[in-house]
Amino acid sequence: MDFEFTEEQKKLKESFAKLCEKEIAPRAEYIDKEAVFPRESIALLGTSGFLGMGFPEEYGGNSGDPITKAMLGEELAKACAATYLSAGASAGLFAVPVWKFGTEAQKKKYLPDILAGKKIGALAITEPHAGSDVLGIKTSARRQGTAWVINGSKTFITNGPVADSYVVVAYTEKEKKRDGITLFLVDNGTKGFSRGKPLEKLGVRGSPTSELFFDDCVVPEGSVLGSVNNGFYELAQTLTHGRIGMAVYSLGIAQACLEESINYAQDRTAFGRKISYFQDIHFKIADMKMYIDVGRELIYKAAWMLSQDDPQSILFASIAKLFMSEHATKIASDAVQIFGGYGFMKGYKVERLYRDAKLGEIGEGTSEIQRAIITKLVEDQY
Ligand SMILES: Cc1cc2nc3c(=O)[nH]c(=O)nc-3n(C[C@H](O)[C@H](O)[C@H](O)COP(=O)(O)OP(=O)(O)OC[C@H]3O[C@@H](n4cnc5c(N)ncnc54)[C@H](O)[C@@H]3O)c2cc1C
Repeated sequence: MDFEFTEEQKKLKESFAKLCEKEIAPRAEYIDKEAVFPRESIALLGTSGFLGMGFPEEYGGNSGDPITKAMLGEELAKACAATYLSAGASAGLFAVPVWKFGTEAQKKKYLPDILAGKKIGALAITEPHAGSDVLGIKTSARRQGTAWVINGSKTFITNGPVADSYVVVAYTEKEKKRDGITLFLVDNGTKGFSRGKPLEKLGVRGSPTSELFFDDCVVPEGSVLGSVNNGFYELAQTLTHGRIGMAVYSLGIAQACLEESINYAQDRTAFGRKISYFQDIHFKIADMKMYIDVGRELIYKAAWMLSQDDPQSILFASIAKLFMSEHATKIASDAVQIFGGYGFMKGYKVERLYRDAKLGEIGEGTSEIQRAIITKLVEDQY
């Protein structure tokens, strides 16, 4: 086992980190304050090749191994968690199922523009009364000749207000439960489809979130993504990718907290000394570093396993997400603590990081759901 990165990986990380620092990070405070969607940043991530990493070249992708993608993702999340989240919902949660389960025509229609950052995608699972409990959704689709008619509503959908296209999860045969769910591709502008205003949020305010409404929304047969009644299983695969993506989100936030904390502690004085002198500060910084490094290794392992189609990748994606998200929340809290009163003030980066960190424990399955998945998979092994 070789833990060393190649020269190519190191150079790529360095140049992508510079791009994030120069182009993405300076806008982070503004898009958070004004709740503005960072469309130009998504386009830039498309032209830089980041969005297309790991996707086939024929659909606008480029070679890129999952570990390198995680390395670069950390830099993006560190620079701006909201930009990372929206980019991931589009080129991950939307593009991955299209790539994995789509027909040739669907891949050609959707992937090039999404991976170029010219268009935006979203994945719509959650409903007002059902998030963790996917089988509790009410949205349904019934056949009408060769078409499908979708009825229902979704909520908390990342990129909801701005996306061009959506992967929508609906029951096609509710009585069959997990064997009665189908994924549909719905384009914005389709009759019977509408979307709500951006919801006001605690964090990642630059990443717009909204409700979606389907009122006798008619989509053609070619809108079925994957196989009819196989959507639950297609979704499970998509969410394994998504959980690793969410773990990287938390990793980037945690790393930003560590760097902010070290710099501030070396600058701020109290009782005639730099606060970096105090042992309480050492302990916080040491714990941050330890949890970040362990979390990063877990993420790389999960990403690598997924690229090898290892069935254990489901387990490791949950472990990595659970570990990194819970520690990122604690790390962000400690970073605010190190900043004292300033950490509570708008305009200080750690204040935003603290708000953004919490989503890591909720999105792509809550911590409780990750623990349930881990227990189920581990129990099955023994
Ligand atoms: C900013 C943001 C962006 C989002 N983006 C998207 C998106 O793009 N697409 C999308 O489909 N969804 C999205 N979501 C929704 C997100 O995935 C859900 O909020 C999440 O899965 C939890 O579902 P819920 O909110 O319905 O909570 P609930 O499922 O109602 O859970 C409430 C509480 O009960 C606990 N709980 C529930 N079931 C169990 C159980 N079996 N055992 C133990 N505890 C349990 C939960 O862990 C939680 O603590 C987003 C949410 C947010 C906040």
